[in-house]
Amino acid sequence: MPELPEVETVRRAIAPALEGRRLEHVEISDARLTRPEDPQEIAAELTGERVERVERRGKYLVVRFASGRSLLIHLRMTGSLLRDPAGSTHLRAVLRLDDGSQLGYRDVRRFGTWLLLEPGELDPYLARRLGKEPLERFTSRDLAARLAGRRIAVKGALLDQRTVAGLGNIYADEALWYARMSPLRPAGSLADDDVRRVHRGVRRALAAGIERQGSTLRDYRLPDGSSGSMQHEFRVYGRAGEPCERCGTPIAKTRVAGRGTWYCPTCQPAFAAAEAS
Ligand SMILES: [Zn+2]
Repeated sequence: MPELPEVETVRRAIAPALEGRRLEHVEISDARLTRPEDPQEIAAELTGERVERVERRGKYLVVRFASGRSLLIHLRMTGSLLRDPAGSTHLRAVLRLDDGSQLGYRDVRRFGTWLLLEPGELDPYLARRLGKEPLERFTSRDLAARLAGRRIAVKGALLDQRTVAGLGNIYADEALWYARMSPLRPAGSLADDDVRRVHRGVRRALAAGIERQGSTLRDYRLPDGSSGSMQHEFRVYGRAGEPCERCGTPIAKTRVAGRGTWYCPTCQPAFAAAEAS
């Protein structure tokens, strides 16, 4: 599933093509995309809107229109946006812009969503679902406040979008490796410097992902059809049995919060907190 770095990479690629443009014709060919709203109605509502800015919040793309409305796009498992979509398979929507160019939305597994929000609805909608943006004004104290008192594993807490927005399974594992933190530690058991390390790890993992234009797994593609390269830089994700590049211990795999979880058993010991306290 695309996480913050992948969605940010998509945003950067499509923003120049969309900003300032008017949607001249909108076709939505999959009722699941706009469910429970009727896709024809949403297409008609979008037609004529002028795009002011393309932003990102967590894993959402936010297309803000001059009218004050916004379109909230979540790519979920396999959604992607394509410039020049002609000839693509699994197209679920096509936007024709007033300069004659087209932007396509492709989604093999069809879990992606498009939600049209009226003026004033965007901020409360996102505020209910998302914590702070990890690469903006997000401090170690913010993270500490979100972890305090929680019994769930720290990895599970990081996957909760209200803890901090934008992390998914890949970057949570990478962040905890950078932080030398066991994914299994109860979130509320972290001491202040544990939290500081996790905070730095989160930012470092996400920044590395953005720099490499995200990772390319399954059907994620950049809007020009190319691929990111972060998958070649993973420290732990998907690397069971390979040596930890810090200490040489084979990377282990377990399950946390129902998700496959990779970590270094030496660098990320499970019971450091219990021994220290
Ligand atoms: Zn290690």
